[in-house]
Amino acid sequence: MEAPAVEIVDTRTPDPKNFIEGATGPWEVVIGMEIHAQVLSKAKLFSGASAEFGGDPNTHVSLVDAAMPGMLPVINRFCVEQAIRTGLGLKAQINTFSVFDRKNYFYPDLPQGYQISQYKQPIVGEGTVYIEVDGETIAVGIERLHLEQDAGKSIHDQHPDYSYVDLNRSGVALMEIVSKPDMRSAEEAKAYVSKLRTILRYLGTCDGNMEQGSLRADINVSVRRPGEAFGTRCEIKNVNSIRFIGQAIEYEAQRQIDILEDGGTIDQETRLFDSRKGVTRSMRSKEEAHDYRYFPDPDLLPLTFTEEWVEEIRATLPELPDEKKARLMKEYGLKSYDASVLVADPANADYFEQVAKGRDGKLAANWVINELFGRLRKEGLSIMESPVSAEQLGKIIDLIKSGDISGKIGKELFEIVWTEGGDPARIVEERGMKQVTDTAAIEKVVDEVIAANPDKAEAVKNKPNMVGWFVGQVMKATQGKANPKAVNELLRKKLGL
Ligand code: ADP
Ligand code: MG
Repeated sequence: MEAPAVEIVDTRTPDPKNFIEGATGPWEVVIGMEIHAQVLSKAKLFSGASAEFGGDPNTHVSLVDAAMPGMLPVINRFCVEQAIRTGLGLKAQINTFSVFDRKNYFYPDLPQGYQISQYKQPIVGEGTVYIEVDGETIAVGIERLHLEQDAGKSIHDQHPDYSYVDLNRSGVALMEIVSKPDMRSAEEAKAYVSKLRTILRYLGTCDGNMEQGSLRADINVSVRRPGEAFGTRCEIKNVNSIRFIGQAIEYEAQRQIDILEDGGTIDQETRLFDSRKGVTRSMRSKEEAHDYRYFPDPDLLPLTFTEEWVEEIRATLPELPDEKKARLMKEYGLKSYDASVLVADPANADYFEQVAKGRDGKLAANWVINELFGRLRKEGLSIMESPVSAEQLGKIIDLIKSGDISGKIGKELFEIVWTEGGDPARIVEERGMKQVTDTAAIEKVVDEVIAANPDKAEAVKNKPNMVGWFVGQVMKATQGKANPKAVNELLRKKLGL
């Protein structure tokens, strides 16, 4: 949406790592985003109709959503609360006074003839989202967040002669979150959208489902010579996957660079990303831009609430990803990267914490991130669907830690628990998987292996590295159950090393 002109400040120092090398020297890309996030709410912004995704066409439509004459909008308090919650999660200014405006335009899927939105006085002002790219933390400024209605959907592919209109989405609450032009690469833009989506999911204010359109990005892209003023931007509308966001930016930046290097100029315009071809195409130029004739909606009073209410909402905020990450690093001694992987989804972090409580945090992180996540990815399962519970994984780790089983047997045990379920300690007991630490038993096997290989036992005296071969033989003879450390020590003693 076109917001009132704001002063744009360049907060970043040009970093050669982000430069795009052109034929005539380096270029820098500048990106700012407008994200539309559908508010998680049962009902719509100004009506009691269901806001649920899908449903048969025109079954989630009240008289207000269909803009029947004389119908009046009534603000949904819960949607307002969700917007405030989101503003708090973005560390943003909450405006206890804001105004709903009419944004006028004609389109068949907009029965009112205008969209109710917030223009000059949004509910949320400036805030910050921190992203991490290549181990560096970057602050991306938030310009504003405002509430507005979604439009309906036009359907053109059902009939050769007719278009249909489905108003199920009409009037659903959206939060438009506008960033400052603080991003300098496709990587940063992708990191920003993922981080924002994670924050919204933690807050429970948007499900972040990009395929269903609950989160869509308008991407503003311009290029310039490093150190120069911002260039003219193009806006790429409605990109609905993180991968496409990266592709659209890379294509668009190169397109603009090619034009400028040929001596041309960039026209400010709205473009569309064609995900099949990987290109952006012009949709309309600035001259064709609508004049929306914004004015305050006379059917709605300004939106006001108290600071006390804001504080009540603040008190219910969950631990957010940045704080959770810092805590996991401190409490469990995790590396920054591992902690980031775990906090990307609150369910992952919860699972990890159940496993790690009272255990070796790094070992737990290793098992959760490498073994469990790897296995889940292979099967296309989410953490909620994991056949191995946090309790079971914790017990597997305990068995390794106590020396009852080796790490290698631990992986076999994990496989058994994954496919058959059951109590890890009992499985180890019943299937005789326990590591043999009893030296007498190991000694017997060591003696047998040495006796069976007299040549090698002679050769190892000059080539001590060959001891590894003997360790392998003993491990094989004990089906991997001998304690490798004990085997090694005994072998060295018996072979006179
Ligand atoms: P409008 O309301 O006309 O779309 P705004 O000033 O509100 O314009 O900016 C919309 C988005 O465009 C914001 O996310 C902002 O950060 C971004 N933006 C503004 N100028 C530039 C620029 N030169 N290059 C890239 N993005 C920009
Ligand atoms: Mg815009």
